[in-house]
Amino acid sequence: MARILDGKETAAALETELKGRLEALRKAGKEPQLAILLVGNSKPSVMYTAFMQKQAAGYGIPVRLVKLPQETTEAELLGKIGELNRDPGITGILMMMPLPPQIDGERAVEAIDPDKDIDGLTTASLGRLAAGKEGLFPCTPRACMAILRHYGIDPDGLRAVVLGRSNVVGGPVAQLLQRANATVTVCHSHTKDLASITREADILVAAMGRPETVTADMVKPGAVVLDVGINRVNGKTVGDVAYDEVSRVAGAVTPVPGGVGSVTTAMVIESIIATAERA
Ligand code: NAP
Repeated sequence: MARILDGKETAAALETELKGRLEALRKAGKEPQLAILLVGNSKPSVMYTAFMQKQAAGYGIPVRLVKLPQETTEAELLGKIGELNRDPGITGILMMMPLPPQIDGERAVEAIDPDKDIDGLTTASLGRLAAGKEGLFPCTPRACMAILRHYGIDPDGLRAVVLGRSNVVGGPVAQLLQRANATVTVCHSHTKDLASITREADILVAAMGRPETVTADMVKPGAVVLDVGINRVNGKTVGDVAYDEVSRVAGAVTPVPGGVGSVTTAMVIESIIATAERA
């Protein structure tokens, strides 16, 4: 049976490390401050805002909640983002998505200063990642790397296959694995004969948003399988990997829930700390 790569255990170890970094920052007279931009009243955004406020409070990180009404215009939002960009007291900005329909979400994301871009989704941040520079990079891909690191799995020289090429998950995780000296293949919805490619993977990352699509016959015996997918099926949360059968073939696998998703929040906190370290 595969070893379970436990996201909660990884997150707990990270918490200790992050608290140490915060303490060092404070000794140096620096303090991170997060601005959360919440436009409108979409229930998931309101819930995620409350969740992040609570998480930040757990680390003693101050949060400025900037709430704008549902009818906010794009110009008003861009004005507010500009203010936060210029405010030296704010080190990081987290904007709840999606935005109301009258606002071009991409334009709003682009307006965030890349040095305050907690989600790492501006073109500048993604460009820094692609160019091998330092920067703020998307949190879920970093959560995948944190799990590998926690369990002592070094991608150097390994063959990695990533299923998905979005800017949020697949693309950045492929870049990070390549930085870590893996040989990376990225697959997407046009890829032919997926199984023949996935069977070559020493590290297989599933980020398609397709429930239980990765089956045992697609996995090389002993491979490390990271399941990023979060899908609701018949009231149950399942990943992109058919966990039971794959865990009989793989060497290690992340569960859903309790895997990658459990580490993502720690990576958001890490980005907030990083903004203050770099400020
Ligand atoms: P997305 O933007 O919909 O991207 C899905 C990607 O999968 C696309 O690149 C798509 O290819 C590819 N794909 C779709 N069907 C495929 C198939 N049959 N074979 C190969 N590739 C296929 O989704 P996302 O935002 O990247 O998220 C992916 C999953 O991760 C979702 O389940 C999401 O809920 C989850 N997620 C989890 C976390 C976390 O913290 N754990 C965070 C974010 C997202 P094309 O490019 O050709 O369309």
